[in-house]
Amino acid sequence: MTTAVWAVAAWALAPGALAQQNLGALLPAAVSIHFVAFGDFGRRGKPWEAQVAEAIARRNASDPVQLGLTLGDNFYECGVKSVHDAAFHDLWEVFYGPLKIPFYATLGNHDYARGEGACAFGSGDPQAEVEYTRLSRTWRMPARYYMFTAGPVQFFALDTVAWDRRERAWIERQLSEPPPAGVVWRVVYGHHPVYTSGRHHIDPRVKQLQRELLPLLVAHHVDLYAAGHDHDLEHLRVEGVDLFIAGGGGDEVRGVERRERHSLAAASAHGFLDVEADRLRLRGTLFDTDLHSLENPPWEKTR
Ligand SMILES: [Zn+2]
Repeated sequence: MTTAVWAVAAWALAPGALAQQNLGALLPAAVSIHFVAFGDFGRRGKPWEAQVAEAIARRNASDPVQLGLTLGDNFYECGVKSVHDAAFHDLWEVFYGPLKIPFYATLGNHDYARGEGACAFGSGDPQAEVEYTRLSRTWRMPARYYMFTAGPVQFFALDTVAWDRRERAWIERQLSEPPPAGVVWRVVYGHHPVYTSGRHHIDPRVKQLQRELLPLLVAHHVDLYAAGHDHDLEHLRVEGVDLFIAGGGGDEVRGVERRERHSLAAASAHGFLDVEADRLRLRGTLFDTDLHSLENPPWEKTR
C-alpha cells in the first residue's frame, strides 16, 4: 500500500499535474483506505502542532494511514509569500514529511491574508501553496479546488475562501455525475464549516455555505463534510450529512460555549479526524492528542 502511494506521489510531481482539477484514481487497487484530516495548524512558537503531528504518527504506526487532507489555515498568520517561504520547511515538512504520505491540501482565510491587521506588511500568496506541489513529496494542491478518488472514496477539495458562483457550479456539476466504478462514499472538505458550535457560527461565509453548499451535499448524498476554521473538534449531522470540524490542528484551541442544535459531540481540544473506509463501512473518529476518541463508540455508517 505504501509503495502504491509513493508511485502516485512521484507521478504527481510532474508539472502537468498542476492546475489539474480531477486527479482521477489515486489508489485504484485499494479496497479500503485510511486517511486523516486537520486544519488551523502552521503556527510558530507553539507546541500544539508538534503534539498533533506526533499523535498522527502514533496512529500511523499502529494502523497505517495512506493519505491526509488539510482543512486550511495551513500557515499562520499571513500565509506564505512564495514557494521558497521558509514556512514550508519549518511548519510543514518538519512535522508531516516523516509520515511519507501525500496530503491533499485546501486553503483557509489565513492562507489568503490580505494585508490587514497583523498582515499589514505582508500578504499571503495562495497560489504559492498550489505551486509548492512541485517541490514537495508530501504536499499536494493541484488547483485551488479539485477532486480525486482513493479506494472506495471520492474526494472533493473546496476553496471556501474564494467560494463563488463558478466554484459552486463546478461542485454541483461534479456531484451530479455518477461516481466512478468502485466508489461507495463521497467526502467533501474545505476550510469553512456549514454549521459549528464554535465562535465562527455567525460568520457570513458559514451562513452562505448553509444556503449554497449544504443543499448540494444533501441532494447528492455526500456522506461526510470535513472543515476547520473553528479551533475545536466537533461532529454534527444535518439532513443525513455528517459534518466534522477538525480545526484543532495546532493553533490555540477555543471554547465551545454554545451548542448548535445539530451538534452530536464537541470538545475544545487539539486533535484530528481519522477516517477508515471500505466498501461496506465508513468510520470517522475525532482523536485528541492522547488518541482518545471524542465519541465512544466512534461514528460509523454502513452500506
Ligand atoms: Zn480560518
